[in-house]
Amino acid sequence: MENSTQLRKWLDDMDLPHPLVIAGPCSAETEEQVLEIAHELKDTDVNYYRAGIWKPRTRPGNFEGVGAIGLKWLQKVKEETGLKTATEVANRAHVDLALEHDVDLLWIGARSTVSPFIVQEIADALEGTDKVVLIKNPVNPDLSLWLGAVERLHSANIGKLGVIHRGFSTYEKTKYRNIPEWQLAIELQTRFPDLPLINDPSHISGRRDLIFDVSQTALDLNFDGLMIETHCDPDNAWSDAAQQVTPARLVQIMNDLRIRKETD
Ligand code: PEP
Ligand code: MN
Repeated sequence: MENSTQLRKWLDDMDLPHPLVIAGPCSAETEEQVLEIAHELKDTDVNYYRAGIWKPRTRPGNFEGVGAIGLKWLQKVKEETGLKTATEVANRAHVDLALEHDVDLLWIGARSTVSPFIVQEIADALEGTDKVVLIKNPVNPDLSLWLGAVERLHSANIGKLGVIHRGFSTYEKTKYRNIPEWQLAIELQTRFPDLPLINDPSHISGRRDLIFDVSQTALDLNFDGLMIETHCDPDNAWSDAAQQVTPARLVQIMNDLRIRKETD
């Protein structure tokens, strides 16, 4: 990509601490749950508060998100805590609603990155936005699909573009929910050295006891940030219960991580 330097510069220009930390529940469940977690994360290293409101579930019959009402809860989060907000968008209607409600960071989920039509629809809906837009890797280990999504979004003049590495599904049973295949993230970084690279240890691990080690590996590989699912009552979360950590545990993880800056 010709002007890939511009891609990274926006992160430096925003003058955010390193690493960038995005945390919050897998799903917004109730207004109380969303606000309770946000208040716990208020005075921590967290920069962006995440909550999924449209949940793309692989199989039907699971909780599919609270929908647009959750955007009002995210607005309250911003008013009450000052945290910036983040949610997943999977079509044009989601983008329009999220922009109307001033969500600060929009990400494209792994099940959307596999579809060039959906990626293009989202790119068109986001044309020229100054919001932060992050693209998760596709569910399958296909670098071209991930690169293609970056190219589509970049062509839509989205200046604050980055990617999230959330691991890849596999038929094999492994200790991970989604195998990291770090070399794919590294390959993407090699192609676009200036594109901010965020790691999502939650969806890679699928279980909370692996989050620290995956996060440490990411920082050792010079990732720019982490997205960690956080919930006040993880075991009773309505989605991804096994992988979410409490706000207290998140703080501990952040304190224990060895942070390595590129300049070190
Ligand atoms: C999520 O972030 O909650 C999510 C659905 O992630 P992914 O798209 O990586 O599966
Ligand atoms: Mn999740």
